[in-house]
Amino acid sequence: MSDKRETLGFQTEVRQLLQLMIHSLYSNKEIFLRELISNASDAADKLRFEALAHPDWLADDPELGIRIEVDKKKKTLTVIDNGIGMSRDELVENLGTIAKSGTAEFLKQMTGDKKHDARLIGQFGVGFYSAFIVADKVTVESRRAGLDAEAAVRWESEGQGEFTVENIERKERGTQVTLHLKKDQSEFAESLRIQALIRKYSDHIGFPVSLTDTGGKDAETKVVNSATALWTRSRSDVTDDEYREFYKHISHDFSDPLRWSHNKVEGKREYTSLLYIPAAAPFDLWNREAPRGLKLYVQRVFIMDDAEQFLPLYLRFVKGVVDSSELPLNVSRELLQQNPEITSMRNALTRRVLDILKKLAGKKDEYQKFWNEFGTVFKEGLVEDQANKDKLAKLLRFATTHTGSETQDQSLDDYLGRCQEDQDKIYYILAEGHATAIASPHLEQLRSRGIEVLLLTDRIDAWVAEALAEYEGKALVDVAREALDMPEKGELKDQDKLNETHKALLDRIQEVLSSRVTAVNVSRRLVNSPACVVASDHDLNPQVRRMLEASGQALPESKPILEINVGHPLVTRLSEETDDRRFGALSEIVLDHALLAEGSPLPNPAEYVQRMNDYLLNAEHGADSEPA
Ligand code: ADP
Repeated sequence: MSDKRETLGFQTEVRQLLQLMIHSLYSNKEIFLRELISNASDAADKLRFEALAHPDWLADDPELGIRIEVDKKKKTLTVIDNGIGMSRDELVENLGTIAKSGTAEFLKQMTGDKKHDARLIGQFGVGFYSAFIVADKVTVESRRAGLDAEAAVRWESEGQGEFTVENIERKERGTQVTLHLKKDQSEFAESLRIQALIRKYSDHIGFPVSLTDTGGKDAETKVVNSATALWTRSRSDVTDDEYREFYKHISHDFSDPLRWSHNKVEGKREYTSLLYIPAAAPFDLWNREAPRGLKLYVQRVFIMDDAEQFLPLYLRFVKGVVDSSELPLNVSRELLQQNPEITSMRNALTRRVLDILKKLAGKKDEYQKFWNEFGTVFKEGLVEDQANKDKLAKLLRFATTHTGSETQDQSLDDYLGRCQEDQDKIYYILAEGHATAIASPHLEQLRSRGIEVLLLTDRIDAWVAEALAEYEGKALVDVAREALDMPEKGELKDQDKLNETHKALLDRIQEVLSSRVTAVNVSRRLVNSPACVVASDHDLNPQVRRMLEASGQALPESKPILEINVGHPLVTRLSEETDDRRFGALSEIVLDHALLAEGSPLPNPAEYVQRMNDYLLNAEHGADSEPA
């Protein structure tokens, strides 16, 4: 450990964040106080937990609390806690770098547009650095619990590119953050202003927050907040605003949550939970490794952040607190994993979240906001949580041919409500994007009969459809599969009979394309297109195949089935073609086009272009020409 004063540079990401934050959060500048009090409260929480193993750390100063001092003359605001504190290394690490993975990519999304950037930064969480919105210099003094007075450290920065650290002597345990306010920010040295802000933002903090006006005549100190952890209060005592503020404290998000649910469970298992559905996805929602989970307390003692054992992965967007009366205070992550109590709490909390969502679904517009942000993650639940399949199914939303819009806003019940009388299936199509889905030849016959099809374009949808399998007794059917079971009419019913009628043509095409297709059938699903390809019933869907291959899996080769539309003029031309070479070329082109239409890559694009060019030239001149 060095005693010298050292000057260090901020990590690049911190520098960028500081710049952006000062610029884009200016209209929300007062949030810095919430962030600093939140950190102080976390520090007190951590010490109370560590003190279970090291009671002496707490001994000389056992009343945990947060003190705020304002000094109008000096234009300073200081937030002091007697929590866990930081060592020199911790200070350098915590206040010089950003540990969240994906930060660099996140920062790239910033545009310079204040509103847009403020929203993004809100989802990212700003924390300590927000002090620089109102201060042109910040001094942090800290002494780690368990370390000597001489091991205390001072950190100081003007928020430009650098900070300094030096060892100091400090009697008190914990951290003191002093903001040297910018010239035009002296309002934050006014005790009345600060008192109002503490009440607004930090009333729910479970430690006393006191305020001293050291610049004033009588430097009296008074406790300003109610100092009871919010979830321990009864529901009827807590206002909506308090619930919202508490959400911001635990989530570091600064938009309001969509919904919450606060419950005390009594009886065999005793615990309190307060669960929130955020309004916006955090920046790292897609990172399945990112920290997630609830804040765990045992009898009001904070135990850990991100206790992921209390909810399944597909509900990783839920934020909140769970406070158990039964778990041992020394519970560890490992113990949580093995504890059967936790499994049953997890089941109960999962049901609780699904109930919140069910209620939310009653408000179409609000539910849509939820779905747009979290729908894709939520869908993982079909695969992960088969036990709740029925509840999950009701909460799914889809884009369908009925609305034609890309927005996933139709439920399976909406679909069933529009089903045709003799329709005993739910039809869906898998495609890479909405445009491909809606233009797919596979929909033609269904569309002409007014049968609705779900348009599934998220990567996870193939697994969702498979896991769902059926809804209200109606099977889900992929319209690009060999056996498409439609409410049939007349002669379309019997595939064998249909094939029999056109056997000569089918055999001739099959012979030409034998290396590329397993079979050629007369199609029952086409109206306007000459052909389409379908997967045989035991084969992988081509979407899934492409995804698996992209992820590096080696799969056995598979060939599709070609279906032709015998009512289409191009197929008529094929059947009348006497020249074998031209018949071959046209057959290949028909197959290539069917592949392109479903978004599949061609095995040999150059060959296709060559064939097509020859064909076009022949068509133009009406002459025979030998392909080169
Ligand atoms: P976040 O709180 O989201 O982690 P911050 O930038 O606010 O991000 O803080 C970074 C880290 O610095 C915290 O995670 C914590 O470890 C440490 N820290 C900040 N303030 C304090 C404090 N008052 N006491 C102890 N540690 C602190």
